[in-house]
Amino acid sequence: MTPRELILGGVRVRCLEDGRFTIPRGAMYVRPPTEAGTRNQGPPPASGPDRFVLAMNIFLVESPDARIVIDTGIGTKASPAASELGDLARGPGLEALLGGFGIGPGDIDIVVNTHLHFDHCGGDTASSPDGRLRPAFPNAVYVIQKGEWETALHPPARDEASYVAADFEPLAASGRLRLVEGEAVIAAGVEVVLTPGHTAHHQSVIVRSGGAAMLFAGDLIPTAAHAGFSFVMSYDLDPRLSLKTKRAIYGRSVQEGWIVALAHETDRPFGTIDRDGVGFAFRPLA
Ligand SMILES: [Zn+2]
Repeated sequence: MTPRELILGGVRVRCLEDGRFTIPRGAMYVRPPTEAGTRNQGPPPASGPDRFVLAMNIFLVESPDARIVIDTGIGTKASPAASELGDLARGPGLEALLGGFGIGPGDIDIVVNTHLHFDHCGGDTASSPDGRLRPAFPNAVYVIQKGEWETALHPPARDEASYVAADFEPLAASGRLRLVEGEAVIAAGVEVVLTPGHTAHHQSVIVRSGGAAMLFAGDLIPTAAHAGFSFVMSYDLDPRLSLKTKRAIYGRSVQEGWIVALAHETDRPFGTIDRDGVGFAFRPLA
């Protein structure tokens, strides 16, 4: 086992990386308004880099029942949105990453998008030989929150640049789209739950196997620095709601010792979130 792969009961989980980009300090550490029941723990670190490196993590969950991909990275299609990212270094794309494990596009049963920002669903679609866009995983059901889907089609002005229609619109006509509202079981031991804040209908994925559980929290907890209540990233549409959501989900995940998988952490994406003084901190798995 490496820090990028682990076994959870009867399930294998791999973290695949679809490249990296950087964000300025001012976007990394934003002090949210204090929400009742959450305690901020001090100012941003006084020293450190001016820009932070973020990975775009994709999680592959292989259970006895299904092969599931959680988020699909930025993909390989060019877009103006992607060109806005600082220092973007693309990965080889999800198809190539899966190919490294002997897994073809047709072998994926379920794709889940935590939300439809372009760095989380860019690999959902791919070009056909005739140039038309199609679902990148022909046999997969794509599980997306209905509210997120509707937001992506008609985004609020503030969030418009984060949605690229080519990443998701072709799914509609494919018949492979499963729009869910709130909690839903998507495979044996695998459920999605609403975790709003970053977007209004952001969802997370909980996988349970052999008495263990793992939370894929998307941009609710993008990096280790965002596990506590002190900071959110500047991209959260409703930072106060992000804190409320974290507090609610920690009530279960901390108590039961869930493993947490982080969407944008570079080297140690798997860990646990534990109590740390008055707040919470992410502790990476060794
Ligand atoms: Zn996002």
